[in-house]
Amino acid sequence: MRDFSADLAHLAINTATLRKQLALPAILEACARRGIRRVCPWRDQVASAGLASVARHLKDAGLGLSGYCRGGFFPAADAAGLRAALDDNRRAVDEAKTLGAPCLVLVVGALPGALQGRPAHNDIALARAQVVDGIAATLAYARQVGMPLAIEPLHPMQAADRACINTTEHALDICDALDASQTGALGVAIDVYHTWWDPKLESQIARAGHERLLAYHVCDWLLPTRDLLNDRGMMGDGIVELQKIRGFVEAAGYAGPAEVEIFSERWWSTPAAAVLDTCVARYHTVV
Ligand code: ZN
Repeated sequence: MRDFSADLAHLAINTATLRKQLALPAILEACARRGIRRVCPWRDQVASAGLASVARHLKDAGLGLSGYCRGGFFPAADAAGLRAALDDNRRAVDEAKTLGAPCLVLVVGALPGALQGRPAHNDIALARAQVVDGIAATLAYARQVGMPLAIEPLHPMQAADRACINTTEHALDICDALDASQTGALGVAIDVYHTWWDPKLESQIARAGHERLLAYHVCDWLLPTRDLLNDRGMMGDGIVELQKIRGFVEAAGYAGPAEVEIFSERWWSTPAAAVLDTCVARYHTVV
């Protein structure tokens, strides 16, 4: 395994980790100041700061991306909604390209309207079929511009409202269906928060291999977890076997960064500098 104790070469920060303390330009500055080389920004943060301005800022600061968050949310209740989702994903691909992202992360969506508390139906098989169609259509465009798509399987507790692809195996089955020759155009983002519990995690990561392991997200699973979405733990504060899982992805050929992605009311109410310092310390010792 790679040695993370000596430097920050393989650390990336998902900028949602600091979204309530700082605007994106200040997050970029804080990361660059610490010698962190890569970030994964969110579309809303980029939109607030201005796409061209963020692209310039990244270049000037010598910062690269570990991914771009996010595309997806393909299912819809009607044809207009499905079309709108494809248009939006095309824009996300273009933004990712402008920012020089290595991949666009897909949170694929689930029952239309469920995120707003009003699901249009409860046919998860239909949602899954629309997800496959949506990825296929987006992939056709993403291939043209050279932007890999990373399907992020989410924990099944979010199957109704955020993503109806819930295991690495399911995500890889879709990769097999849409990119059988493993061109690197379609792969997965492995997030330990969503996948640590999976009895097939090691074998499916091995199955993914170098070509399809496009991103690796770290945080921790707290006991108790008080909020399914916004109570992620800092690495080392929970029960995820972080180094074991990193061993899985590295054994499969993953050579990219470990991206810290923590949605947490606790860490959002901690000063940004202290959050980043803790991320750096835990990266060295437990990631
Ligand atoms: Zn993630």
